Amino acid sequence: MAQQAIVADNLMYRYGQLVAVDHISFNVAEGEILGFLGPNGAGKTTTVGMLTGQLRPKAGKATLLGMDVARQPEAVQAQIGVCFEIANLYEQMTGIENLKLFAQLFGVKNFDAQALLQRVGLDSRGKDRVAGYSKGMKQRLMVARALVNQPRILFLDEPTEGLDPVSAEAIRNLILEEKRRGVTVFLTTHDMLEADKLSDRVAFINQGEIAALDTPHNLKQRYGKRMVKAQVAAADGQLENREITLDTTETAAALQTLFSQEQVVTIHSEEASLEDIFIQVTGRGLA
Ligand code: ATP
Repeated sequence: MAQQAIVADNLMYRYGQLVAVDHISFNVAEGEILGFLGPNGAGKTTTVGMLTGQLRPKAGKATLLGMDVARQPEAVQAQIGVCFEIANLYEQMTGIENLKLFAQLFGVKNFDAQALLQRVGLDSRGKDRVAGYSKGMKQRLMVARALVNQPRILFLDEPTEGLDPVSAEAIRNLILEEKRRGVTVFLTTHDMLEADKLSDRVAFINQGEIAALDTPHNLKQRYGKRMVKAQVAAADGQLENREITLDTTETAAALQTLFSQEQVVTIHSEEASLEDIFIQVTGRGLA
């Protein structure tokens, strides 16, 4: 079995009386992408805070690459890259200067800022001040900054939220490239489609607890209903919609009735989305 990059063991955090993360446990294997999904206030950021050593758990323990995060925060931080939603770049400095400053802080030798900028598609803008960058460019620079120390674990918080399609795709490709290099990715998001596309496994977090954790495929097999959706022409010529659930004892008869008694115009099958399954498991949506 691959070594565990992240082990969360009974992690708990509360702000005053409010329990934000309620004794959660999970592992992430080296080279795995875990999508960590939940609505606003579910406890995602608090969990990342505990995993990255910014928040000290009130109970439980986080272990990264075999190191206890609370006991060896600096050794852990040298091995991880963190990219949070809020841009905290030096606006008056150029892209290259921002990256070089970070490389200095990490003590990275022979740092090639230009090569890293190229990976995020910013090589032609590296000498421009960050103040003039678009939101997507800043986000790409933040992701580049998280890669400066060639981390073995990457924590990304909503990395593509609100970005134009080109920037979002550049970031998704970069995540997959890092995975191919063996990097572990902890991806916090409420974009279910993105999580489905990128993640090896997804965890659903709701009210500080993990409601489900499995591969998207297994979650769909277990909870999702596959459907056939058809449009039929009614007697008056109008189109009407029909839905038939697959994988039940009535499916075959219902399909036969559809084809023998109705005039089918279009037909396609549809898998349940992670969003549907999230609602089924937690009783609430992500919005
Ligand atoms: P979002 O998607 O909105 O970032 P989240 O899933 O990351 O949400 P957290 O930010 O971890 O959720 O918040 C979990 C709970 O803890 C929420 O009820 C939130 O209001 C509360 N909380 C978070 N930070 C603080 C704080 N500094 N002080 C008090 N309560 C907080």
